[in-house]
Amino acid sequence: MAAYGSFRVRSLLSLHKCSPKITRSSLSDFSWTRMFSSSSSPSQFQAVGFIGLGNMGSRMANNLIKAGYNVVVHDVNHDVMKKFSDKGILTKNSPHEVAEASDAVITMLPSSAHVMDVYTGPKGMLNSGNGLRPWLFIDSSTIDPQTSRKLSSTISNSNLNRERGGCDNPAMLDAPVSGGVLSAETGSLTFMVGGSEEAYRSAKPLFLSMGKNIIYCGGPGNGSSAKICNNLAMAVSMLGVSEAFALGQSLGVAATTLTKIFNSSSARCWSSDTYNPVPGVMDAVPASRNYDGGFATKLMTKDLKLAAESGKEVEAKTPMTYVAEEIFREVCSEGHGTKDFSCVFRHYFCGKDEF
Ligand code: NAD
Repeated sequence: MAAYGSFRVRSLLSLHKCSPKITRSSLSDFSWTRMFSSSSSPSQFQAVGFIGLGNMGSRMANNLIKAGYNVVVHDVNHDVMKKFSDKGILTKNSPHEVAEASDAVITMLPSSAHVMDVYTGPKGMLNSGNGLRPWLFIDSSTIDPQTSRKLSSTISNSNLNRERGGCDNPAMLDAPVSGGVLSAETGSLTFMVGGSEEAYRSAKPLFLSMGKNIIYCGGPGNGSSAKICNNLAMAVSMLGVSEAFALGQSLGVAATTLTKIFNSSSARCWSSDTYNPVPGVMDAVPASRNYDGGFATKLMTKDLKLAAESGKEVEAKTPMTYVAEEIFREVCSEGHGTKDFSCVFRHYFCGKDEF
């Protein structure tokens, strides 16, 4: 890995950008895509900024570090920043300072409001009159597609780099993830990517340091759209199997028996064969450790709210979304918001353990 501060690619791009006689179209051999082709090594992005070092982000940033990137981090929580500075990782006091020190920046934040603040707030990455360094912004937070699109358009219309005589504007990708903390830890996340295909190809080495499945979903906002659709389907299938297992128990059929039937017939799904919600039916799932770990019910509720709002925006029929949101909201209000969302089996449907 080249030393921090060695910006070979950046220098080449600067040469390309500042040449007064050469147009971009005549420079196909030096195009942005080729410079950052997906087959190249991690060193193409010499410095990678990471903002939002929570449950997911800290693990994703660690995987980038393991892959050899020079990572620069920021979080409003000083305790998590200290964990990184103790390991010799460069920390910055604001998103703006991260942007000044990075070729690409990844954000992993709780909600749209936090993302907007980090990009456009008073100390935000885009809040500069002098031109910023990053060529690529990747937001992996789960947020609404409308905000992803707005931000992408702001970034691609920005003249941050033009002010320094450049001819390329930075690109933005919305790239939320599927897979929880364990997948973030083991670098096996699924990324759903929206934005230009060129930027997606450029970013692929970064994604592959943190995930296993990288799926291009189309233009700006499509990654965010895909994510909320995935979680809507996951929520509804979890509710379906939980309701069926609890009903089965009441009718005298054990969930263990129903699981065998579902998994060898038409009701088989991830919630029945991989992430079974009934305590005792399956090892190594949240249900068998008092619903600790996994995907928090409050996060599922947040994603269903995003789905409901997006559905309203495009006038789609989303009755299941509303029912699912209401049920998970009720589970949260009864004090189970931090438990895995499969706890709906116990806390809403009153299902029984089968140890
Ligand atoms: P988290 O709350 O653990 O982490 C968020 C981090 O962002 C915190 O460390 C917080 O201090 C930091 N932060 C908040 N505002 C900030 C700001 N203005 N500037 C800098 N840092 C700021 O959340 P998480 O579980 O890591 O989830 C992050 C995102 O990933 C969310 O959008 C979530 O929906 C999504 N997601 C989470 C999971 C999961 O299992 N936890 C799975 C898939 C997707």
